[in-house]
Amino acid sequence: VPVALITGITGQDGSFLAEQLLAAGWTVVGMRRRSASPNLWRLQAILDRAQFRLVHGDLLDTGSLVRVLSDCQPDHVYNLAAQSFVPTSWEQPVYTGEATGLGCARLLEAVRAVCPGARFYQAGSSEMFGTGGGDVQDVHTPFHPRSPYGVAKVYAHHLTVNYRESYGLFAVGGILFNHESERRGEEFVTRKISRAVARIHLGRQAVLRLGRIDVKRDWGFAGDYTRAIHAMLLQDEPQDHIIATGRAWSVQEFAEKAFAVVDRDWRDHVEHDPALLRPAEITCLKGNPAPARAALGWEPAVDFDGLVVRMVEADLERERRA
Ligand code: NDP
Ligand code: GDP
Repeated sequence: VPVALITGITGQDGSFLAEQLLAAGWTVVGMRRRSASPNLWRLQAILDRAQFRLVHGDLLDTGSLVRVLSDCQPDHVYNLAAQSFVPTSWEQPVYTGEATGLGCARLLEAVRAVCPGARFYQAGSSEMFGTGGGDVQDVHTPFHPRSPYGVAKVYAHHLTVNYRESYGLFAVGGILFNHESERRGEEFVTRKISRAVARIHLGRQAVLRLGRIDVKRDWGFAGDYTRAIHAMLLQDEPQDHIIATGRAWSVQEFAEKAFAVVDRDWRDHVEHDPALLRPAEITCLKGNPAPARAALGWEPAVDFDGLVVRMVEADLERERRA
């Protein structure tokens, strides 16, 4: 039975990818860092599965990575762990560099030393493009990241490509545009909105404060994107890919559609909060998914409207149970 190691197992993508790999017959080892509080809620569906286990390790601690890789001898390594929230990266740029940038270097070095035959996936981001491209970004678009997070991801991406070219590792950088779900962290704008819609509708919250609502993102469904991640490591040759929908929507449009799910008008509930403006912003990101669709045979199953409805309904359900 093939073995996959997933770093960032407690995060949104880790949980979807683990479920899909288990369904495909893989053994999945999830690496998590030590936490004083429970953070396994996204993994409830698979925690008891015989082919799934959790191990402790931290991207800041090379020895722990060597130990984890030596113990499980994985066929695939998915590096999903990161300090992934853009605003935090201005508050903690050095830590973000350590985890999101150098964390990848530590893991690549450990893979090279312990299991150089393993296939390696690095979770790259459309944030790497920043203001680097035109209307639509593809793998040839230059990077001009606009946050310390984006800068750290550019380093990790280039290093992944460099380890492929230097040492012949089967190492692939996926460049994924924003992908969301009912498992998204609460501070990201889509989940912040879907949660607020549910809470406002049930009388538990008065207003929703947002920063810039004119900015646009190419939003897809996380469960679709993790299928593409797996497909990238099943290619005959290691090749980097953009995963996106090819359409961009504004934050305002997300809010409009989300409030419409409960028959409300977003303008009655949303307030502008200047404290949520960023030191530098990316006004629009939109990726070209055509090459990945052709090379990987990848098709997303959930569209934008379906994503919004799914997220709002999940938060309504959660709030009703709480
Ligand atoms: P999350 O923020 O939900 O998950 C991040 C994971 O990384 C968590 O499991 C977290 O653990 C773990 N982690 C953080 N620091 C460390 C560390 N030092 N050592 C070990 N683990 C650590 O991210 P997503 O699931 O949304 O995204 C997965 C990856 O894809 C990330 O690298 C993200 O930057 C990238 N990405 C995501 C996009 C998106 O739209 N979701 C778009 C493009 C790229 P803990 O629970 O302990 O905090
Ligand atoms: P990002 O694209 O990885 O930074 O994902 P986010 O979900 O954090 O932000 C997406 C966009 O929404 C960014 O351009 C933000 O500036 C914008 N935005 C507007 N208001 C908010 C807010 O209240 N919270 C967050 N997180 N983003 C907001």
